Amino acid sequence: MSNFDNIKGKYPLLIEGLCNAAKSHRLAHAFIIQGAMAESRNKFALALAQIGCCPNRAENGEPCQVCNICRAIDNDNYADMTKLTPEGKAFQIKVGDVGNPLPNTLRNFTDSFYFSKISSAERKVGIIYEADRMNSEAQNALLKTLEEPPRESLIILATAKPKSLLPTTVSRCHLITLTDKKLNFTFAKQKELFSALFSAFNADGDLLQLEESAETIIGIAESLKAEANDKIEAEFMPKIEQAKEFDDKLVKRLTQLMSDNAVGCYIGERMQFLSAIYCFFAQLALLAEGADFDNLPNSEVFDSLEVKKSEIPLEKALNAVKLAESMIYSFNFFVNEPLAIRSFIFNI
Ligand SMILES: [Zn+2]
Repeated sequence: MSNFDNIKGKYPLLIEGLCNAAKSHRLAHAFIIQGAMAESRNKFALALAQIGCCPNRAENGEPCQVCNICRAIDNDNYADMTKLTPEGKAFQIKVGDVGNPLPNTLRNFTDSFYFSKISSAERKVGIIYEADRMNSEAQNALLKTLEEPPRESLIILATAKPKSLLPTTVSRCHLITLTDKKLNFTFAKQKELFSALFSAFNADGDLLQLEESAETIIGIAESLKAEANDKIEAEFMPKIEQAKEFDDKLVKRLTQLMSDNAVGCYIGERMQFLSAIYCFFAQLALLAEGADFDNLPNSEVFDSLEVKKSEIPLEKALNAVKLAESMIYSFNFFVNEPLAIRSFIFNI
């Protein structure tokens, strides 16, 4: 499947809206693509480049995907596409010298972006990856380009953190929020989990509240094994009872199968439990960054909670995402799980 079809399958409404805009010559000249997953952001940027550049688009505004330009974008050798990525130890995008800017600096990027278009494409494209890594000097130098873009051009800033960009940068771009695939949580105590996580997030140093949250979450983690056993037993016991009447060997085989299945089911539930914790805080951070509830893939995690978007401290939410990530990573090893959960909760 082509990158464009893949992205269209994942974000049908966004793509339709952009294609319509391109068809009627209303496509904005600058975009911020916001999303938690770098891969989705970067692939979306290429699909958007095709929408903006294809000189041969279909009636519904979709790029043809077969012309030289569509193919060049797919193969990453489109001559009128300039890219910029942060580099160095600090992973920063610096402004660069006026006269002789080094590669991967903002001025080097704008110099080649302004260089006149050489292909027959509708637009030339500039993509800045991890755009929040531009320091403010670099962002200020980009402003002029955003304010008075060269004719027939498209600038795309891809980032997980648009709030780290200057307001003047953000206000000159059209914001697209990507939400990634919906997760499906089936373990029984998910509501309790989300409410304990939210309570810990809002504890504000209240040790009793933190301790209560930690106890609840540890209890849920410990209940997963019993829950998995119950599910599998409910499925297998009737068969085993039946087999008892005529075949001892079959009983033995079924009992073994039941216990194997219970282990598999437990592993699945535990993975769900851990991704639910990560998903909760990742979405909280997206809200703090300005995303809408309606655009979240798993907004149901906030269903029974009173979350006020404007009151979520962004830094704290981002920190919780990081902590969740490292706790989940540590669970791959033989850690003391209750201790890991408690330390996670007390550090949020
Ligand atoms: Zn095309």
